[in-house]
Parts: sequence; C-alpha cells; structure tokens
Amino acid sequence: MKNQAKVLTCVTIVLLCVGSWAPAAEFLQFSSLFNGKDLSGWVNVNTAEDTWSVRDGMLVCSGHPIGVMRTEKQYENFILHIEWRHMEAGGNSGVFVWSEGTVPEGRRLPKGVEVQMLELDWVNRHKRQDGTLPPIAYVHGEVFGAGGLKTVPDNPRGSRSKSIENRCKGKGQWNTYLVVCVDGVIKLSVNGKFVNGISKAAIKKGYICLESEGAEIHFRNIRIMELPPGITGPESTAGRGLGDPNEILLKPIPDKMVVLTFDDACLSHATFVGPLLKKYGFGGTFYITEFTETFTDKTLYMTWEQIKSLDDMGFEIGNHTLLHWGPKNPQEFTRQTAAIEDHCLTNKIAKPTTFCWPFCHVEWDKLPILTQRGYLFARGGHNRPYKPIVDNPFDTPAFQIDVSTEKNNRNVFYDAVNQATAGQIVILMFHGVPDLEHPTVGTEPARFEEYLKYLKDNEYSVISMRDMAKHIDPVKAAKQLAN
Ligand SMILES: [Zn+2]
Repeated sequence: MKNQAKVLTCVTIVLLCVGSWAPAAEFLQFSSLFNGKDLSGWVNVNTAEDTWSVRDGMLVCSGHPIGVMRTEKQYENFILHIEWRHMEAGGNSGVFVWSEGTVPEGRRLPKGVEVQMLELDWVNRHKRQDGTLPPIAYVHGEVFGAGGLKTVPDNPRGSRSKSIENRCKGKGQWNTYLVVCVDGVIKLSVNGKFVNGISKAAIKKGYICLESEGAEIHFRNIRIMELPPGITGPESTAGRGLGDPNEILLKPIPDKMVVLTFDDACLSHATFVGPLLKKYGFGGTFYITEFTETFTDKTLYMTWEQIKSLDDMGFEIGNHTLLHWGPKNPQEFTRQTAAIEDHCLTNKIAKPTTFCWPFCHVEWDKLPILTQRGYLFARGGHNRPYKPIVDNPFDTPAFQIDVSTEKNNRNVFYDAVNQATAGQIVILMFHGVPDLEHPTVGTEPARFEEYLKYLKDNEYSVISMRDMAKHIDPVKAAKQLAN
C-alpha cells in the first residue's frame, strides 16, 4: 500500500509538472505563425493599418512607419524558421524575440532581442566619419539586446554580436534564418550555417515581433517549433504592456468597442432590430427565453423560425433560460438552460456560447454548470462598463437602456458609450424596440435608430458578446478573477 501510494504521488507530481506544456503532436513539429492568407495571430503594435499586407502568400511590409507587429502570445523556448528578402538596396528590418508587447512612449521599437535583417548595400550608404565603410559582417545577422535588454554577445562588436561570416544575399533574393532560442541563449543560422549568437539574455520569454524600418521587405514560411519551458519567472518574462497581470487579454481592447444585447425574444428583434443592425453592419446578441405565458402570442414574441433568421443573418443567439425565473436548484437550472440549447439544435441555430442571467441575478453556484456546457461569457447588470482584466466574464456589467428613465434616457446611452475607452467595453442591454408586453423596458424605434447612427457616425465597433473572445481569454479570466 505504502509503495503504491508513493508511485501514485510520483505520477501525480509528474502530471502536475508536465501539465503546463504539451507538444501539439506526439513528436515536436513546426507550426505556422503566418497562414499565407491574412494576419491572423498577429497584433499591430505601433504601425499603420496598411504597413502589413499579404500578397501571393507572402507577408509584405511597406516599411512605413517605423514600428513592429507582434505575435498574439509569448514564446519561451523555441526554434524559429523565417525567410525574408529585401526589395530595396540598403533596406533595414529585423525580427525581435523575447520582446515586450508594447513600445514605450517616445520610442518606435520594443525592448527585446533583435535579430538584424539588413540589405547588403546598407554599408555603402552608411560610410563612417573617416570615409571608410563598415565591414559587411556588421550589418546583417547581428544579434543584440534592444531597448536596454542585456545579453552577452558571442562575437562582440560593442554590446552587439556580429556574424562571423557573411552569408546573406542581396535585394530580391530570399534568405533563411533559423533562430534557436533556449533559456537565454540564442543561436542564429544564416542560409544554412550557424554564424552568430548571444547568451545570458536577461529576458527569456516574450513576444516575437516583425519590424518595419523604412524599406519594403517580404517574409514567408514563418514557422515555429515550441520546446519545453525552463525555469522562467516573472522577472525574466517580457512585460505584456497591457496592465494585465493575469494575462487575460489576447490583444488590447480598442477604444469605442460596444456590445449590443437584446433580451427576451421580443417580436421587434426580428422585424426591426435585426434588419437595422444589418444595414449598419453591426453585430449583436439576442438572448432567448420563453418566459411569459404570452410567448405563444406571435404578435408579441418571435417564432423560432424568426430566431433562426437572426442566426442566419450572422447575429448571435444566446441563452436566457427557458422560463426566466431564478434562483433555481441545479437540476432545474440545467433543465432550463438545456431547453434553449435543444431548441437551437432543432432549429439548426449555432449552439449558444454566451448566457444572460434572468433579471441580472447572478447565481455563482451555477458557474460549473455553465462552464461545463461550454459557455464563455454571462451578462449581468450593474450599469457600468465591463473591465475584462478585473470583472469575471460570468458577470459582465451592462447598461440597461430603456424608456423607464424617459427624461434622461438619451443621457444614459451617450454617457455609457463614452466610457468605451481605457480598456473598457461597453455592453448595452435592450429589450423590445418597442417592447409590446413590457413597454417600460422598451426603446422607441426612432430613438434606437438615432443611437445606431451615432455609433456609426462616430466609428464605434459594434459586436456581439461572443466576439469579445477575440480579445479576451474568458476561460482563463473565469478561473483567475474573483466572483
Ligand atoms: Zn430578461
């Protein structure tokens, strides 16, 4: 018994240790960081909308303005394969590894280890003061800590490390870098031979950034093989720069992000709201319940065919429980949640992944039921903005917009959407437009259109609840943030 217990303990420890890392397949293999079609997986840090584009399966960087884009996630130990070619004589660019996720005010490039990519003519265009040219080996394939990051160079040129052999090809020709990054050590292979490296990097986990530095450059075949992690604490991990200690954000929350939600399956959602949102190109979430005896009155509430039509138009159908009453015992809660899912399944509507607490009454004891059923967010009330790095995603605050505060109604809306800044998302809760059975929670159609026009004219991005998962890791947030 004693030995068995020991073996079990060992197995448990091993499982705990390897739990945080597992290769994508049985054996290590490369996966793509660039899909050849779009910029999925990349976050623009401080360049322009059109700095990065995709052409003929290549990633094209215009070179303007100077800045970087980064991977969505951080990498610690890995092998990076990247191919590049400069299109202009003397062009400058590079790839950063173990980099920070943001660039400090007043600078253009992040703190990280830069692996230089210079076109060979660079030396001819950058004569020294005494008229001599810098040696060619200086200027391509250099590896160095940028932005104050400390490293020890293998082949020093000051604090930088230079390649011991010039292996790069000039403009228009493809070069291949293999960058091996393990535990603060970097080794660089240029076109098939290791010629440079650094060690003892002060930061050994961070983002991978591609650099735009004045000249057009093309990239292709950007692949990464992730290796097991080492002992890397917060002091040797790059900052995310998102003010997000729990690493909940996948990318920064942009200003002017508004989520529209519509409760209770009112008829006007299908006849008025959906088509109008479509006209404006907005997203939205419709929270379905059959809570009143008059749900069967189809002059008041949507049919499931109409609900399906909203799904067909690309809107989100969310779960507001079958009968809208709480609190409930777990069996009843499960039954009412499953009933809406079943209706969706029967009507070929996408399975709901966000939930809406009836009367904004959050039942934290039901959280395991919702997570187990695959829900990512649940909308609450509170009449304040949602702060994703603070607020639990199963009680996302929302502003109720209705006519019950008739005199101030407009102010409630405008005050709310003005708070969509500084990492906050504004979630708005509407009922019917108008709401025939419960007019006090409804909104006048003309006023509703005024609101949408305001959002459009002021360039808000108007999305559904489920769309927030592009910016937020709700599973991590639900685990790490207080209820
Ligand atoms: Zn409701």
